[in-house]
Amino acid sequence: MNSHVLEVIRSPKVYDVVVIGSGAGGGAAVQVLTGKGIEVALLEAGPMLDPEKDYKEHMLPHHVDHRGAGEGGAHYFGRQPWGFFRAPNGAWDLEGEPYTVAPGSEFRWFRSRILGGRTNHYGRISLRFADYDFVPYSMDGLGTDWPLTYDDLAPYYDKAEAFIGVTGSIEGIRSAPDGIFQPCPPPKAHEHLIKQACSRMNIPCIPMRRAVITKPLNGRPACHYCGQCGRGCITASNYASSQVQILPALKTGKLKIFDQAMAREILSDENGRVTAVSYIDKKTRTEQQIRCRVVVLAASACESARLLLNSRSSRFPQGLANNSGVVGRFLMDTVGLGVGGYVPALEGMPHYDTDGFSGGHVYSPWWEWDKKNKEFPRGYHIEIGGGFGMPGVGSFQGQVNRIGGYGRQLKDRIRKEYGSFVYFAGRGEMIPNNLSYCELDPVTVDKWGIPVLRFHFKWSDYEWKQARHMERTFVDLIESMGGQVLGRRSPRQDGKGISVPGTIIHELGTVRMGNDPRSSALNQYCQGHEVPNLFVADAGPFVSNPDKNPTLTITALAWRTSDYIAEEMKQGHV
Ligand SMILES: Cc1cc2nc3c(=O)[nH]c(=O)nc-3n(C[C@H](O)[C@H](O)[C@H](O)COP(=O)(O)OP(=O)(O)OC[C@H]3O[C@@H](n4cnc5c(N)ncnc54)[C@H](O)[C@@H]3O)c2cc1C
Ligand code: SF4
Repeated sequence: MNSHVLEVIRSPKVYDVVVIGSGAGGGAAVQVLTGKGIEVALLEAGPMLDPEKDYKEHMLPHHVDHRGAGEGGAHYFGRQPWGFFRAPNGAWDLEGEPYTVAPGSEFRWFRSRILGGRTNHYGRISLRFADYDFVPYSMDGLGTDWPLTYDDLAPYYDKAEAFIGVTGSIEGIRSAPDGIFQPCPPPKAHEHLIKQACSRMNIPCIPMRRAVITKPLNGRPACHYCGQCGRGCITASNYASSQVQILPALKTGKLKIFDQAMAREILSDENGRVTAVSYIDKKTRTEQQIRCRVVVLAASACESARLLLNSRSSRFPQGLANNSGVVGRFLMDTVGLGVGGYVPALEGMPHYDTDGFSGGHVYSPWWEWDKKNKEFPRGYHIEIGGGFGMPGVGSFQGQVNRIGGYGRQLKDRIRKEYGSFVYFAGRGEMIPNNLSYCELDPVTVDKWGIPVLRFHFKWSDYEWKQARHMERTFVDLIESMGGQVLGRRSPRQDGKGISVPGTIIHELGTVRMGNDPRSSALNQYCQGHEVPNLFVADAGPFVSNPDKNPTLTITALAWRTSDYIAEEMKQGHV
C-alpha cells in the first residue's frame, strides 16, 4: 500500500479495544467485552447486514430469474458456483482480492465480506473437541500439545452453547463430549435406515449438534423447520454472530461498528505494544487510523496471519508478534471425502415435509479413538445427507446423466427416485506438516495495494490412508442398506480423492499458541508472547485440527480470551 500518497486520518478517540473481523471469533469478543462495559470499535471489511433484506429464506426458485442461476443463467455455464439463494457476500473468489497458490500446491479459500463473516453461511455443526484432542502429541507422538486442556475450555463451551443455542443429546461418548443442549428434532426418514446400518457396523449415530434453537432463547423464536439455513435465517433461529451477538451488542452503547473498513496494518511502538490499526475506509477510499489500548484480531485464521505479516517494523521485521517465524506456518484444513448412494428401499415414499433444519439431524462421532495400531493416526466423524429438500437449479442433473433419455419416462423415474439418495461425508483430522503454510506473495497485491497470501499445501500419507478408510466405511454402509454406490472416488496418493485443500473451509493454525515463545506466537490466552496487548480470537491460534468442525471452539476460545482481556484491563496490565 502506498500509504505515503494518501492522507492518513487518525481518530482522536482512543478505544479500549479494536476488534478486527466480525465472524465467530469477533462476534464472541464483541459480545463479551461490551457486556462487561468495555468500549469496542469493530472493524469489518464487509458491509452491514440487514437480515430482512439480505437473506433469501422462504423464496421459491420460480420467484427469481433463471430460478436463481444468476444473471443470464450464469450457473448453467459454471460461472456462479455459489448460488443466488445463499446468504450474501461469501465466495470462493472475491473481486479485487486475489490470493495465489504456489506451483505444485492446490488451495481454495472461501471468504465472506459482510457483518458476521462466514457465520452467515456456515453449516452450524457445533462439536466440542474431546479431552484427548488437546494432547495429540502425548497420545501418539505427532504434532504438538495445546497449552490448555479440555477442562480449561469446558466452562466456555458451556457458556457458548447456552448462549448461541446448540441441539444435541447426552450420550456419554468420549469422542463427542456432551454439552448444554437444545432438544434435537427426530431423525428424517432416510436417517432411520442409516442408523440401522450404523448399528450393524457398530458405528454410533446420534442426534446432531447444530447451532439451531428448537426452543425460544433470549428473544429468538424456535426454528420453524423451513430447511433453508444456508440462505440465512431471518428469525435468527440459527446462529450467526451478526444477528445473535453483534447487532444486540449495539444496544449496550459500548460498540461502534466501522463497516467496509479493511484493516491494512497493526501499528506498534518501540516497546512492542500495539497503538493503533490502520485501515482502508472503502466508502471514502481513504486510509484511516484508529487508536486503542488493545487489539483483538479475528479476521479469520489466514487473514489474521496476513495482517500480522503485513505489520512489519524494526522491532518485528518478519511481521508483528512473529520473531519466532511461526506466523503463517502449520496451516491445516479438514480431510474431506464423500460417497453417495442410491437406496431402492427409500423409493416411492410419500412426498411430505421432512426438511427439518438444514443438513442431517444425526451424525456419527469417531468410534475408533481408543483402538491401538490403527492404519492411520487420529480419526474422522461422518456427516449425513439425503432426504427430499427443496430442489434447485441442477438438483437432478446427476440423475439425468445416469438415467439418460428424456420426456415423461425420465420425469417419472426422477419422481420415483426422489428422496432415495444418501450421502456420507467424512471429516477427518489432518496432522500439521512443514509443507503446508501461507506467506506473503512477493509480487501480488489486492486492489488497495495490500500484499496478498500465497498458499502452499500438501496432504501427507496419514491423510491419504484416512481417506481410504472413509471410503471403505461409506461403501460398506451403503451396501448394508441394500444401496448402490454412486461416483466412487478411490483416493490415491498420486491423484485425486481427498477434498481439495481449503474446500472444507476449516483452514486454521496459522498463528499458533503454545507455552514456548520460540515455537508459538501466542500464549494460552491467545495473547501475543511478544506483544501483550495483541490477542487473536479466530482459528489462527489452534494447535491441531481435530475432526470436529472448528467454530464452536473458536467461540469458546474467544470467550475465554475476552474474559482474560477484561480482567487484565481491570488490573491495568494491558
Ligand atoms: C459453507 C460453509 C459451511 C461451513 N460449515 C461449518 C460447520 O458446519 N461447522 C463449523 O464449525 N464450521 C463451518 N464452517 C466454517 C466456519 O464458517 C468458520 O470456521 C468460522 O466462520 C470462522 O470464524 P472466524 O471468526 O475465524 O472468521 P469469519 O467467519 O471468516 O469472519 C472473519 C471476518 O473478518 C473480516 N475481515 C477479514 N479480513 C479483514 C480485515 N483485514 N479487516 C477487517 N475485517 C476483515 C471478514 O470480512 C469477515 O467478516 C463453514 C464455512 C462455510 C463457508
Ligand atoms: S430451518 Fe430453522 S434455523 Fe434454518 S433457516 Fe429455517 S427457521 Fe431458520
